[in-house]
Amino acid sequence: MARGARRPKSGFRASLEPLHALQISWRSGRTGMGTLVDIHRGQGLLEPSFLLDGLELLAIASRLFQEGDPHGFDETTAALSLLAERGQQQGLLAAVWYMLDVAGWLGNLSHCWQCGREVEQTMFWQHGQLVCDSCGKGMRVSAGLRKSIAGVISGGHVRLSMADADTLREMIRMVLQEHGIKATDSFVNY
Ligand SMILES: [Zn+2]
Repeated sequence: MARGARRPKSGFRASLEPLHALQISWRSGRTGMGTLVDIHRGQGLLEPSFLLDGLELLAIASRLFQEGDPHGFDETTAALSLLAERGQQQGLLAAVWYMLDVAGWLGNLSHCWQCGREVEQTMFWQHGQLVCDSCGKGMRVSAGLRKSIAGVISGGHVRLSMADADTLREMIRMVLQEHGIKATDSFVNY
C-alpha cells in the first residue's frame, strides 16, 4: 500500500515513474504487504523511445498475471528485455507473444492445437487457436509465417514483412480477446 503516494504533495510522487527499477522499503503490516516508507528510483528499464510500448506491455501483463499469482515478475522482466532487444514494432509483438506463451495460452506452432497433428501446410487461426483444416477455419496462417514467428521469438535474425507483422498482431489481438482482454487502439493500429 502506498496510500496517497501519487497526490501532488506526496514525497513519493517524483520517484514513482513507470518503467524504472525502484528500491523500496516498507513496514510490514499485520496483513498484506504493509506500508511504503521509502523509495529510491533506480535506472530506467527501457530507452525513452520504448516508453509507450513498455506501458502497453505492463497493461497486458497486469491482466495476465493477477495479484497474488506467484508468476509475473520474472516473465514481465523478460518480456521487457525482449522488447528492448528486438526493437520497436517487432519487439512489442515478440514480447507480448512471449508473455501469452508463458501464461500458457499458446501452443506449439507446428501442430494443430485441437487434434495435435503435425501440419506442414497452411493452418488457420480460430478463436485465438492454431488449427488444421480438419479442425476449423479462420484467418490463414502459412507455414512460412509460422516459421518466421518462431524465429522472431527465439531471437533469430528474422524480420517480419509488414503483412506478416499485421497478421501476427491480429493473432495476438484475438488471443487477448478470447481471454477478455481488450488490446488498446495503439496496439491494434500500430
Ligand atoms: Zn486438427
